[in-house]
Amino acid sequence: MSDQRAVGILPVDEFDVALLDLDGVIYIGPHLVDHADGAIALARERGMRFGFVTNNASRTPEDVAAHLCELGIGASVDDVVTSSQAGAHVLAQRLDADTAVLAVGGPGVDAALLEFGLRPVRSLEAQPAAVMQGFGRDVQWRDLADASVAVRRGAYWVATNLDATLPIPGGRAPGNGMLVAAVAQAAGRGPDAVAGKPHAPLMRDSIDRLQARRPLVVGDRLDTDIEGADRLGIPSLLVMTGVTDVATAMSAPAGQRPTLLARDLRGLLERHPSIDGDGRGCWSARSSRARVEEGAVVVRVGRGNDGWMDALRCACAASWATPDADIGGAVRVLSSGMP
Ligand SMILES: [Mg+2]
Repeated sequence: MSDQRAVGILPVDEFDVALLDLDGVIYIGPHLVDHADGAIALARERGMRFGFVTNNASRTPEDVAAHLCELGIGASVDDVVTSSQAGAHVLAQRLDADTAVLAVGGPGVDAALLEFGLRPVRSLEAQPAAVMQGFGRDVQWRDLADASVAVRRGAYWVATNLDATLPIPGGRAPGNGMLVAAVAQAAGRGPDAVAGKPHAPLMRDSIDRLQARRPLVVGDRLDTDIEGADRLGIPSLLVMTGVTDVATAMSAPAGQRPTLLARDLRGLLERHPSIDGDGRGCWSARSSRARVEEGAVVVRVGRGNDGWMDALRCACAASWATPDADIGGAVRVLSSGMP
């Protein structure tokens, strides 16, 4: 696949810890993603450990762990790492204990600051030395105004994450990145640090917390999960259960190309084939093939249950190897090995 070629990898044997994204990987809104619970349980039986790593700053780790348990996925508070915690860790490395920090966002922001020995405050009167801004459904204009003034006065500003949008029932809503942009516009500059994916603090803290020796990042988004892994040189698995469709995966720019591709989390328990190029533009995995021809990727779908996934793996390899072909996700299927 990407630069870190997949050579017959069985993830559950190859990696000691999987750092899982949540939304689009384990659940979508209130619903469990198909096979997520079963795959995690089976992988655990085989010795794999899991960290649940989320850019969502508004909820506390306790809330996230409780939600996962409700969905039938055993998770303790220690298994959950949020961008609020990573942001508070960034601040704790710079500030003395009990320093006042203007907290903008949901309960997860305040809780993380307290956890790291800082003092969350909600007004400028407390003379905050720093601002931590994470998403919260109840964030108001007053909060953004206070943050803007504090930043202009020189407060150190950490954004938990810059996700531009947030999935909600029926569509998308502005995410934390938009609220950060509002403050940046008023303050005349951007944040001093960003904690969440694809930035390093959240991923680094997750690896430390889980004491991972050979981690695998698992996610559904190219520009957060996969790019975050790539920046730290960590192998990644893209699952097709969330926001990334086939055309988007095939069009992934360098730096956002996953090491491995799978339909869903059962991909942790499946052997991923090597993707071999013949040096003349044809890529093969087991009995599937793909090549770029006349502005489209032409695939031959191989035999068996893996045929379609292997064809997609080859299609990505072919597309990524010819970035100037302007394929735009166009695929022609020559034959199907599906029954
Ligand atoms: Mg996601």
